[in-house]
Amino acid sequence: MTEKPHIFDLDLPELIDILTSWGEQGYRARQIWQGLYQKLWEGPEAFTNLSKGLRGRLAEAFEFSHLKPITDLKSSDGETQKILFHLPDGLPIETVRMRYQKRRTLCISTQSGCAMGCTFCATGQMGFLRNLSSGEIVEQVIYFARRLKERGERVTNIVIMGMGEPFHNYDATMQAIRRLNHPEGMNLGARRFTISTVGLIPQIRQLAAEDLQVNLAISLHAADDELRAKTMPVNRKYPITELMEAVREYARTTKRRVTFEWALINQVNDTPEQAAKLADLLGGMLAHVNLIPLNPTRGYEGQASTHERAIRFQEILQDRGVPCTIRLRRGIDIQAGCGQLASQ
Ligand code: SAH
Ligand code: SF4
Repeated sequence: MTEKPHIFDLDLPELIDILTSWGEQGYRARQIWQGLYQKLWEGPEAFTNLSKGLRGRLAEAFEFSHLKPITDLKSSDGETQKILFHLPDGLPIETVRMRYQKRRTLCISTQSGCAMGCTFCATGQMGFLRNLSSGEIVEQVIYFARRLKERGERVTNIVIMGMGEPFHNYDATMQAIRRLNHPEGMNLGARRFTISTVGLIPQIRQLAAEDLQVNLAISLHAADDELRAKTMPVNRKYPITELMEAVREYARTTKRRVTFEWALINQVNDTPEQAAKLADLLGGMLAHVNLIPLNPTRGYEGQASTHERAIRFQEILQDRGVPCTIRLRRGIDIQAGCGQLASQ
């Protein structure tokens, strides 16, 4: 494992402190910051606006990459790309890039594996390996931003829905968002980020108190505790009533619409009863439901709902005034769909 600090683990003030301690002017740190986050330069040798001596010092002091691309898959329609990276300790993560109309959305990981154990999710099935550092989260975005730049394109949206539970690695996730959001760097607006959580209540409250206008998505998937606990062990710790209380409070405080994720599993959570219960839970709230026909994974037997059942479920919600969309399944042929990320 590498010993040097990873340059993407630093905030701008930290970089300024280091440069100052080297006897350099503070503006040199800003030049490096812009090189990293705007020009997307790959290594110290690219920083030709700095002296050779300073470039050498950067190379000695910092690691510029923690991510080693191992496999690179494109979906048959070419619109989805998934890369498996190895971290310096050899552990796997995956990152997905989706192209949809004008959007270039990245689905990034916050952990290698996941400790939450949702039975229908490939990442949950592989267990927890470790948290990513903020720099390892940031570098996934940098990596794809460089590839897009070669084609004159840029990252427009980031969904934190890759491997891992972001609220189980809260600090690194928030640091990464703030670094990518930094106006002197990549300057990706906070509203372009969506954090998806399995429903960790303390961190939902913590996010409500941050001055950061990111979007929040809650993976609900069932509208009563008995059913939800069958596939989502976290429900035993944070049952639905308490979860919904925290989410309502979040919506009130931030005045932001909350998204609810619902993977439609045939004959399991796609019944009219579940739809009605879900509508009850969301009554009067600024909410949106994303229905996703279940993506297949090796370790779970459930099937995706039929189209008819999905439509029926959607209609019940819409009749009750709950905005609701059925999401297209994308990237399934390369196992890049929601819940399909695992190193195989
Ligand atoms: N840990 C976070 C974010 C990563 S999972 C969370 O659970 O929200 C990203 C999304 O994929 C979540 O909404 C998750 O519930 C969903 N998902 C997991 N397995 C799935 C599957 N097999 N089919 C469809 N969606 C799935
Ligand atoms: Fe973890 Fe999210 Fe998968 Fe559950 S759905 S196991 S929380 S990654």
